[in-house]
Amino acid sequence: MELTVQIRTGGYTGDPSDLTQVLDAIRDVFARLPVSRVIMGWCVLPEVYQQAASIVHDLGAELYLWLPMFSENGLLRDCSPVIGLSGQESRPYQLDDSENFDFYCPNSPVNQSALLSLYDEYFAGIGFDGVFLDKIRYPSLINGLDGGLGCFCPNCLTAYDEAGIDIDALRSRISALPYLETPFGVSDYQTGRYVFTDSLWDNFFSLRQSIVSVALRNQCAALRQLGLKIGLDVFAPFLSQFVGQDITLLSQLADFIKPMMYSATLAPAGLPFETAALLRATGMEDDPRSYYRIIGFDPTIQPFDLYFCAREIEALRQACICPIHPGIELNRIPGVAPTTTEYVSRCLDAYEGAPGLVLSWNLLNMPANHLDTVAARFR
Ligand SMILES: [Zn+2]
Repeated sequence: MELTVQIRTGGYTGDPSDLTQVLDAIRDVFARLPVSRVIMGWCVLPEVYQQAASIVHDLGAELYLWLPMFSENGLLRDCSPVIGLSGQESRPYQLDDSENFDFYCPNSPVNQSALLSLYDEYFAGIGFDGVFLDKIRYPSLINGLDGGLGCFCPNCLTAYDEAGIDIDALRSRISALPYLETPFGVSDYQTGRYVFTDSLWDNFFSLRQSIVSVALRNQCAALRQLGLKIGLDVFAPFLSQFVGQDITLLSQLADFIKPMMYSATLAPAGLPFETAALLRATGMEDDPRSYYRIIGFDPTIQPFDLYFCAREIEALRQACICPIHPGIELNRIPGVAPTTTEYVSRCLDAYEGAPGLVLSWNLLNMPANHLDTVAARFR
């Protein structure tokens, strides 16, 4: 099993992580674990990556640069926001002073090319083996119902029209959402993706998935021209459908994909956090049949139960053409990622058959006990 470890060096704004602390953490994790790949990003200080590259390469591992695709880039480039049903810009979800989850429309050529432009200006020539693309999606319902089911910018309205989607019907459907008996009319999980039995939703969600995939295809081709491999950060399958990610399609573009299987995280991409936002938006917070009404599975199962997650990962493995490396949150961050060694151990059991794991999402906050729990499996 391949082990990848992720380190957050800071965002485009806010204070970057301490260079010495980052380099010490890298040396320490290699002393404990057989790491094959390190992912780090995305503060714009070249020296942190230059020094890390020399350590990581001397140890025979690969270094990937972690970059956001349709969020955060507006801090350094002129990007156009996702527009909600109301005609207003999708509101950001400010996690901390270095990450704002402000989303830019995946259907805009300007937004698509921001990534390459930022790579050229800040990261070219450092010697990365690959890039790891995050936030390759529309906003989730954490950004509210309005933005979470966007986009209604002129580009997207044209795309809906060309795809034969009745825009007025879509508008009234989204407006009625909290009151619908079966909000999305979704059937069960089939061959790596959920199929929406309601044709309006299915056309809408499929189109968003195709917009993201096409945007990614062009950017990935340009990155490969630079000799870079590609890793992709995606939502857990159950959630990915709602944010424009068809993981089976994306698997054609990547060297590996990391679904964020954050069953304990109470922040964006965290399964309990995202599913709560989904239930709130669909008016089902207190409905015991809520998951059944959304995606048609046993109402006693929650999408963040590890055995449900393991089933999703196995279905993805069969449907995707690149390796699937589940991301498990090994960091412990009060109020955000309250992980325990017992939780880490249960995740390792759940994803035992996977070809790789990504120890997520910030090595600097991973307790030594958590790392040693992983190490024990490799002895
Ligand atoms: Zn748009």
